[in-house]
Amino acid sequence: MSDETAEASPAPPVTAKGMPTLAAAYGATSAESGLVSLTVARRVPKEDDVEIEIDFCGLCHSDVHATRGEWGAQSYPLVPGHEIVGRVRRVGSAVDDFVPGDLVGVGCLVDSCRECDSCLEGLEQYCERGNVGTYGVKDSRNGGAITQGGYSTSVVVDRRFVLRVPEGLDPAAAAPLLCAGITTYSPLRYFDVEEGDVVGVVGLGGLGHMAVKIAKAMGAQVVVFTTSDAKVEAAIELGADDVVLSKDPEAMEAANRTIDVIIDTVAAPHDLNPYFRTLRLNGALFQLGLPPTDMPPVSPGALIRRRLSYAGSLIGGIAETQEMLDFCAEHGVVSEVEVVTARQLNEAYDRMVAGDVKYRFVLDTKTLQPPSEKADI
Ligand code: NAP
Ligand code: ZN
Ligand code: ZN
Repeated sequence: MSDETAEASPAPPVTAKGMPTLAAAYGATSAESGLVSLTVARRVPKEDDVEIEIDFCGLCHSDVHATRGEWGAQSYPLVPGHEIVGRVRRVGSAVDDFVPGDLVGVGCLVDSCRECDSCLEGLEQYCERGNVGTYGVKDSRNGGAITQGGYSTSVVVDRRFVLRVPEGLDPAAAAPLLCAGITTYSPLRYFDVEEGDVVGVVGLGGLGHMAVKIAKAMGAQVVVFTTSDAKVEAAIELGADDVVLSKDPEAMEAANRTIDVIIDTVAAPHDLNPYFRTLRLNGALFQLGLPPTDMPPVSPGALIRRRLSYAGSLIGGIAETQEMLDFCAEHGVVSEVEVVTARQLNEAYDRMVAGDVKYRFVLDTKTLQPPSEKADI
């Protein structure tokens, strides 16, 4: 075992010397390859870096879109994963807010310009110069390397982008909070959801089920819109107050003018106009799903007649993500997860596309094959 992989707790601070750590990983080598075993070289922690031994990483539908090239050209090999939970292994010499052994998380962001108005407001996800995503993005502060995500045994991230996971949260069930949790928490907060509001959640997958739990914890009434007969009862078990089978026009009609804000998490193109009809005056529909192809057009009349807003929202900033983790710890909110092994990843992707997941797959990184002696990336 080399110095870089040796277990050391507590470890002394490090300076940027030595060899990169070879980490086991799973990722795609092309849009058609599916996920295969890979070895990633993780940089030696610089003075502001935190090296994290990853325990769990959630599988987001965005990982499917990205690895399969559905959002356009990608740089391969590509290791996905941006719902990372693990323990700090060692820290750079200037890091004094994390120590080895801390339970931490990394979400969808590992850097941003840190200077633009968005970054200064804590909205790093909307960085005007482009945020640095956890995978598949050029990392200019680290030699222009392409970032590689959390389906891996370790990762090195600047301390500014490392979240503290409250110890009371189960690590596997907390992992999906790092994307599904914050992506739904942020628009609910932006809309100021509070007791008495009625929140509609469209699509009961990873994001959708977190939206149900978080909106309930905020005191709202929640109505789930699902395409799946099998999820009608399941939605109530999750805490929804009502469920509408969206393919039933009469059920949709009955929901007209009953909702204040809709969180739409559907991963495929679909007609939004029936959902606008369910909104009350001044209502809003936040589109979170990012389907690979265009959606049917939105009818302007539907928006105008009740002063509705049609909005988008992208994950959340670092401070808000920490706020969400603390909120979830306070309210006992975690994800409903099915923990999978590395060998089950491809099947899990197919099941996610088929809507067959309750409600988030999470990779147990202990099941990754050991790294090879030479890095693939
Ligand atoms: P997911 O777990 O696969 O859930 C998506 C749900 O959408 C399904 O469970 C299904 O729910 C519903 N759905 C209805 N028709 C569908 C169809 N034809 N194909 C697929 N799903 C269909 O996905 P997720 O991880 O929650 O992600 C949802 C979307 O949000 C993805 O497009 C993802 O890329 C995007 N996303 C956006 C952000 C952001 O910052 N805006 C962040 C993360 C993810 P029912 O069975 O209940 O109908
Ligand atoms: Zn995600
Ligand atoms: Zn910026």
